Amino acid sequence: MMQYENEHINLLLIEGDDNVRSTFKSYINDSGLNITTTEVIDGTSAISICKINRFDCILLDYDLSDTNALKILSSLHKGINTSTPAIVFTESEKKSLDLEILEAGAIDFIAKQDCNTILLKQLILYALVRNRYQESQTEYIEQQRQNKEQERLNCVLVAMERAEAANEAKTQFISSMSHELRTPLNAILGFTQLLERKQKKSIENEQGEFIQEILKAGTHLLNLINEVLDLSKIEAGQLKFNMGSVDPDNIILDCQSLTSNLAKQYNCTVTYQKPKFELSPVLSDPVRLKQVLLNLITNAIKYNKDHGQVTISYKLLNHSHLKINVADTGIGIDPDRISEVFEPFSRLNETKANIEGTGIGLTIAHKMMALMNGKIDVISKLNIGSNFWLEVPLYSPLDNLKITDKSLKKLLVIDCNSKSNQSKDSILDALKSYSFLELDSLDKGILWTKNQLASFVLVYIHSIDDSLLQNLNLFKQSANMASIPIIVIAQNITNNETTHILNTGVDQCLCEPIEPHILKNIIDYNMKN
Ligand code: ADP
Repeated sequence: MMQYENEHINLLLIEGDDNVRSTFKSYINDSGLNITTTEVIDGTSAISICKINRFDCILLDYDLSDTNALKILSSLHKGINTSTPAIVFTESEKKSLDLEILEAGAIDFIAKQDCNTILLKQLILYALVRNRYQESQTEYIEQQRQNKEQERLNCVLVAMERAEAANEAKTQFISSMSHELRTPLNAILGFTQLLERKQKKSIENEQGEFIQEILKAGTHLLNLINEVLDLSKIEAGQLKFNMGSVDPDNIILDCQSLTSNLAKQYNCTVTYQKPKFELSPVLSDPVRLKQVLLNLITNAIKYNKDHGQVTISYKLLNHSHLKINVADTGIGIDPDRISEVFEPFSRLNETKANIEGTGIGLTIAHKMMALMNGKIDVISKLNIGSNFWLEVPLYSPLDNLKITDKSLKKLLVIDCNSKSNQSKDSILDALKSYSFLELDSLDKGILWTKNQLASFVLVYIHSIDDSLLQNLNLFKQSANMASIPIIVIAQNITNNETTHILNTGVDQCLCEPIEPHILKNIIDYNMKN
């Protein structure tokens, strides 16, 4: 208690009655405590003075000319005197108010008639001690909370590091295992093929059947290994794309001839409806596009009925994309399960055990199409047939610069807005000396940057929510691997939202309208450095 007796105490006395106030003033003066008292006579002045002054203790009358202690307490405790202890004096007949006063936030109360110098001194000192204790408790709890939060954060970071390491290890394991498995498997298949050739002359029929089984199982295993390897490479961002001008006609004719034996085997006719208009080339990686299309045509044959039809056709979309349809008259897909077709290892026709497959082809196709800035989708009717289609961007001479020249700095513009944006158009106009590529989602951007197909990224956003912030964070992480700067351009954004965006790690967040030449200077500077 001694420590408090010598401390300087800044006290606010709120009392409307002059006599009572001077009585309380004299108790305070006689208490021997080192107190500076500020006096006010009503609630309004009390609240205004509390907004600018910090007090160590407040003494207030329950009944004031303009309000009462309960209302004042609730206002006082919202300002800078949030934790200042307040003692309320009441008339003795108002004893029933005791609990209400404490509930409103007062630390103590006393009937005016019972008060005297000693009692008031004790009340003030007890209030200070209790308050200090409460503050230290609150501090302790806050410290505990922060420690827990930090602990949780550390756990998350450790878990993330472990997950990344595990992922890296998984990728390495899969690629080395695939190699280790492929080598002996190729030898097994090679020797089995030799046996197959000799079989007709010297090996008995039953052994011939065994050889066919070995070949079938071996080929299936080899396909599975190759597809798992492709998938793990895509997920690790290691699959490189050689984008350029591709003649879709050639690709389709190749695929048609490559699948002709399978079509015969399944009694199926594959028709290619050549378009009447001259086909423009598309912007894609020819090897990967063929891989995707082969997968679609193979599926259309495999999951068809006897004497079924497969029709390949085109449609031009908005002079910007070519739609390639692969339609079949096959078994179709259950509408309840159609969303699963692009999921890894989902084979929807398990009952048709004789149809060979791994369940990964469409997953790979889906990821590859996204990486090539295209799209894949399906509509299907059970027992009637399916139409799988690809959307591939048309090639323009400028694309050659954009994608194939590896020495050129590439600017990636991601516009998450669905509406057209005039200010963006004038900015892109100012940036036309760069080769740039536009994407419509951060997901695609993440895949592009992972594959190191960009040197600088502009992201247009129009509204901010948790999933956008999460995606920006992921994006920055993948861009960090390739040290790619990211600028976010937002409309109608508050300071708070800017802070959230910057917290994701992006390099800059600018608010529209932006002068195109200023943005160009920023980009020029970043590209040079
Ligand atoms: P799979 O190697 O099993 O063919 P995919 O990833 O290519 O793997 O296809 C996944 C699943 O989608 C198939 O197992 C099949 O159930 C279904 N599917 C794909 N294409 C068709 C189609 N044209 N008609 C009916 N079902 C299909």
